[in-house]
Amino acid sequence: MSEVLVVVDHVDGAVTKPTLELLTIAKRLGEPSAIYFGGGAVPSVLAEHGAEKIYQLDDAAYTDFLVAPKAEAIAKIAGDSSPAAVLLSSSAEGKEIAARVALKIESGLITDAVDVTADGVTTQSVFAGNFTVQSKVTKGASVITVKPNSANPEASAGAGAVEAVSVDISDAAKGAKITDSQPKAESGRPELTEAAIVVAGGRGTGGDFSEVEAFADSLGAAVGASRAAVDSGWYPHSFQIGQTGKTVSPQLYVANGISGAIQHRAGMQTSKTIIAVNKDDEAPIFELVDFGVVGDLKTVLPQATDEIKKR
Ligand code: FAD
Repeated sequence: MSEVLVVVDHVDGAVTKPTLELLTIAKRLGEPSAIYFGGGAVPSVLAEHGAEKIYQLDDAAYTDFLVAPKAEAIAKIAGDSSPAAVLLSSSAEGKEIAARVALKIESGLITDAVDVTADGVTTQSVFAGNFTVQSKVTKGASVITVKPNSANPEASAGAGAVEAVSVDISDAAKGAKITDSQPKAESGRPELTEAAIVVAGGRGTGGDFSEVEAFADSLGAAVGASRAAVDSGWYPHSFQIGQTGKTVSPQLYVANGISGAIQHRAGMQTSKTIIAVNKDDEAPIFELVDFGVVGDLKTVLPQATDEIKKR
């Protein structure tokens, strides 16, 4: 069975859920091998989710510089092992690494897949969400970035054989050094692009996100915002969802006081279940929802929050 490389995202050894989703997808395509950048014990969760082999790369170059050293190392492993596919998460870093790897190993690249079948056919939403396309890499190993929440992580025991790999990183790959980094503000909520549930607010909040946040917290959800809310200075720009913001694909998306402009849809319409709360029953968002509530979010959300807290 062909090897399928999965590039692991982790924070100090805590492996992210999208990585476990990638391992689940990798099992459809072949035999999963994880590529783990970092020292110390390799997290057992990788073998528990099917990794037969784990390439461990421990070198300061991978944390001291921007993505080029990682891309060089992944390309080296791919060159040696001739995998069927290389899977990465569709984060900003994942996509940049994927592009560099595809170039180095002269393979086709597909970004932002929301599904990958066993024969390597991917599904993507393109042109600001106007089309859903299916495509397949026809040249070399398939380099694919997959959006979070595209699969349910499935536990399955893999051998988890760790192989230490040392790659001579070129000087060219050390062109951009990280000189400072700021810790993310801790909200206690899940990361927006990885969350299983996203509760978003728009201009209809009137600038007060307290009901949106309380409802999100009752569900353990991440909070997002429309551009109108962000441009008004009501919520930080990093929480904007849409064409010029982040793309989310959660199990459940709840849009509150958001009209459903095409540019907003582009960032959320691949969500599995969509609910909208809007006081205008003709708001375009109702065209794409699974459930719609016509009402004032200031009334609906506190009631919904109370009900959920009772359970
Ligand atoms: P509005 O369109 O003003 O809608 C507010 C909604 O709230 C209305 O439907 C109203 O009925 C409802 N409402 C009002 N009060 C209440 C209440 N009390 N309770 C319930 N409902 C209420 N937008 C994005 O979101 N993301 C992007 O990335 C993005 N990128 C863009 C890129 C470009 C190039 C351009 C041109 C535009 C972009 N936009 C983007 C802007 C987009 O076109 C819309 O203007 C924006 O999405 C509107 O935000 P909104 O739905 O919050 O506000």
